[in-house]
Amino acid sequence: MPAIAVSNTSPAINENTFDPNGVDNDGGICATPVLESLKAHRVKSGETLASIAKTYNLTTATLMGLNPKNRDRTVKVGQILKIPPLDGLAYQVKNLETYKAIADKYRVRPDVIFEFNGCQNRPKTVFIPRAVWKPDPIIAKIIPLIPPNFKENLIIQTGGYPLPYPVPVTSNYGWRNNPVTGQWSFHSGIDLGAAMGTPVLAAKTGRVEFAGWEGGYGNFIEIIHTSFGTRYAHLSQIFVTSGQRVVKGQQIGRVGSTGRSTGPHLHFEVIVPSAQGWATLDPASYLIRLAVVIGEIVVG
Ligand SMILES: [Zn+2]
Repeated sequence: MPAIAVSNTSPAINENTFDPNGVDNDGGICATPVLESLKAHRVKSGETLASIAKTYNLTTATLMGLNPKNRDRTVKVGQILKIPPLDGLAYQVKNLETYKAIADKYRVRPDVIFEFNGCQNRPKTVFIPRAVWKPDPIIAKIIPLIPPNFKENLIIQTGGYPLPYPVPVTSNYGWRNNPVTGQWSFHSGIDLGAAMGTPVLAAKTGRVEFAGWEGGYGNFIEIIHTSFGTRYAHLSQIFVTSGQRVVKGQQIGRVGSTGRSTGPHLHFEVIVPSAQGWATLDPASYLIRLAVVIGEIVVG
């Protein structure tokens, strides 16, 4: 396998000013705080948030974090974007919070944060180098379980199906070859092709283990039932909180396309305990069982 050449020619990084090991290497000389030395980039025609990020050797998430107007990933020609010299996020310091506490939260050395922020004693906002910005999960108020435009018999008869009615499977569990990149990857769940905003229902009674943002899963919910768990990813909205009890069929969120997703769908996983922690199972047999039940009731 050929070695990967790492290019480090970002136009924005001044190696002398932004040495991440500055405290050890330069005897504690403090640089200008990163947040006071941001570059301005005027958006040109044909540019995207991703292409601008690439130009400066940054991730799109870094630009979204520092430019709240661009958190929908769009840019307008002529708009001015704030460009930091390296990846990281701006963090609003809470009352009496120390560098150490912030460092623990983001697993960055406190002296590194101190240095990158010009050795200020009590800054209101600090730049945390290398920390990855993520959007807040969208938490909405609980809304009625059954929206008026759905047929009641289908909703009540779901019996554990994670949506109000059966929808086509758009991607199965298991190894799959990405047609664009040609790379193989393991698909840990099943993709259900439901439209944006479709209610997502708890497949079984249980306790919400996690509800919030989870990387590529986007807005994500994990529910633990007695002997197994179920997971729901890429949601547009979440209606439950971690620790909450939910009953089978209760609406917990809405279908969306958050995280690593190419379009609206529900990524549904079934997990079981194993020696290595939670392991995923093919949800197909679980869903087929349910489909039979739904079919019987609908026909009968
Ligand atoms: Zn999926």
